[in-house]
Amino acid sequence: MSRLCAYCGKEGTFSREHIWPKCFLERVDYLAAHYSPESGNVHGADYIVKDVCQVCNNEKLSKLDQYFCSLYDIYFKEPRGPNSEVIFKYDFNLLSRVLLKIAYNTARSAGSETAPFQALKNYILEGDVPPSPFAIIAELVSPAYIVDNSKEISIPKEIPSIGYRSARAKLTTPHGHLVLVRIVSINSFFFHLLIGKEKTVDINLLVNEFLEYIPETTFIDPSSNVVILHSSHRTSLRSLLPLLLGKFDEFKKYFEKNRKEQS
Ligand SMILES: [Zn+2]
Repeated sequence: MSRLCAYCGKEGTFSREHIWPKCFLERVDYLAAHYSPESGNVHGADYIVKDVCQVCNNEKLSKLDQYFCSLYDIYFKEPRGPNSEVIFKYDFNLLSRVLLKIAYNTARSAGSETAPFQALKNYILEGDVPPSPFAIIAELVSPAYIVDNSKEISIPKEIPSIGYRSARAKLTTPHGHLVLVRIVSINSFFFHLLIGKEKTVDINLLVNEFLEYIPETTFIDPSSNVVILHSSHRTSLRSLLPLLLGKFDEFKKYFEKNRKEQS
């Protein structure tokens, strides 16, 4: 069976495409650990997929990576405090395509649902009119605070929102089953991607359901290029903890191995 490129669908010379832009991984010194549901192991950050042809990777997708890294330098890099306001300027075409690319790469790598991405592959590559409905909802999460209850007087310790992840989520609203929901988060910035499973999905209805279900989140208007984000009361720790606690042994093994290799 011949291999076909996950984006253009053609045969070709395949290359190593980083799930997260390489320029971004270089900026964070490749520091991270991820749990892979497929292998049951914890991996380092340098996830790659090998089903992308050289033309797509080098000529089409790399400029999306550059855009992502420019946003990282301006907005994502510094974790935000609890009462932050960010005037976020964006190019919707480039922002949506790079977030969809990271989500699609992760979904393939993790063996997760990829069908809703099929109609958007060409949009990710070329940036023309998207053939299926999708939306982006942004959230600026707050730092978490830990109080040491064993002391009589304890100053809460701030745990900043540091880390990045690309994961599947679930929308349990009346029409939530009509969209695939994926989260792409970088430090305090969380992007919720709503991707219609059918062309006929009324994406505005889903956006309204989402905004009502998770307050303090903000719709990223495709016809605009700026939005003001305010910190929500949710923390990134709250959304990460269940995974970390559930896979504690795997994470421990990974960090111990890493420590041994570095010493
Ligand atoms: Zn290709």
